[in-house]
Amino acid sequence: MKILVVEDDGALGLFLQKGLKLEGHDVDWVEDGETALLQLEARAFDLVVLDLGLPRKDGIEVLVELRRRCERTAVLVLTGRSDVEEKVKCLNLGADDCLLKPFSFYELRARCKALLRRREQFADPVLRHGGVELNRMSRKVKREGRLIELTVKEFALLEFLLARQGQCCTRGELLRDVWQMAPDAGTNVVDVYINYLRKKLATPEDPSSEAIIATVRGAGYVIGGGGIKQSLRIVRSEVPFGQIHTRSIDRRVQA
Ligand code: CA
Repeated sequence: MKILVVEDDGALGLFLQKGLKLEGHDVDWVEDGETALLQLEARAFDLVVLDLGLPRKDGIEVLVELRRRCERTAVLVLTGRSDVEEKVKCLNLGADDCLLKPFSFYELRARCKALLRRREQFADPVLRHGGVELNRMSRKVKREGRLIELTVKEFALLEFLLARQGQCCTRGELLRDVWQMAPDAGTNVVDVYINYLRKKLATPEDPSSEAIIATVRGAGYVIGGGGIKQSLRIVRSEVPFGQIHTRSIDRRVQA
């Protein structure tokens, strides 16, 4: 699952990122409200762990804006205040749960699990694009109704790309999130597996499968043609996001 941690306390943020990553989640960490909203606009998250006291837009403002934009992302609020009013206010504004600081990581982990489980129960397990269907529950993949056998890694790669339709996934991102390798590892494993996937997904009408998985020259791969334009727009206009994203990758590598 994809989690965004928004916490301006550096030690706590890093601790949460590392701990939730060890649980198998894909975790980004940002330290202020404005960057959190940029991240939430650029990528789809399953859960946001949101501190309330933040620089450059506090947690309440982030929560209000997030709920204005999207109903589906679960939000776990971290608060330093024990009064009931604040907790009620957060829940009324759309938070799914509140946790009082200081907290035990085990409790945070259990609450995250419960929120993600609840979310999964209501989520459609099938990801679709252009005749391709990937069922996260049964782990079956079809194109035009034809069942396609994939290895574990091929499945994970296709799932990652389908879950981010319209978004260019860079080789570094795929190395990090699908292979759990450093983004700058000198390997062509991503291109090799994209090639395997394309061969398996090929149809007589689309023998190279490029209608499904498109190459974004010099950047990576995308499912969903409109995404190339979107990714270029992000690169041009969201420079702060790019900087912060790179920084969060660096942190991950150091971690
Ligand atoms: Ca804080």
